[in-house]
Amino acid sequence: MFVKPDYNLKRIYDINLEELKQSGIKGMLFDLDSTLMASKSAQYSQEILDWLSIVRKDFFIGVVSNNKNPDYIEKVRQISDFPLLFDAGKPRIKRVSAFLNEHGLNPKECVLVGDRPLTDIICGQRLGCKTILVDSITADSEAKIVRFVRFLERLSVSP
Ligand SMILES: [Mg+2]
Repeated sequence: MFVKPDYNLKRIYDINLEELKQSGIKGMLFDLDSTLMASKSAQYSQEILDWLSIVRKDFFIGVVSNNKNPDYIEKVRQISDFPLLFDAGKPRIKRVSAFLNEHGLNPKECVLVGDRPLTDIICGQRLGCKTILVDSITADSEAKIVRFVRFLERLSVSP
């Protein structure tokens, strides 16, 4: 299957909010694991919280996650101050569609942002949303670890 998102970005921070606003987007739906937070971490980084506080000035923010672990859901609820839909069933659209209705959002005025083409992007496309594929939010830190290991390796090289 060939999936083509509207935008394919390295980092979630590369999303052009101004352009989305200009094109009539009012709501941003985010996948949770690997998109807004490290997978299964139940923790937002300060960087993503800062970015979301900019996003919410102009857009409705909602999280649509397939996660259905009750303990995890409770942890995330305690640290989130925007609407959350768990057990979303992506790429099926029934529950996400109901979530949009509940919040008075037209799918055509929403963008779905996620790291998984076959769940997030297909779900967004089926709904009629714009779609943005992003790399896993931990990709950068993984790269930093790799760089750090190389740095350590260089220390072991004799002058
Ligand atoms: Mg994900």
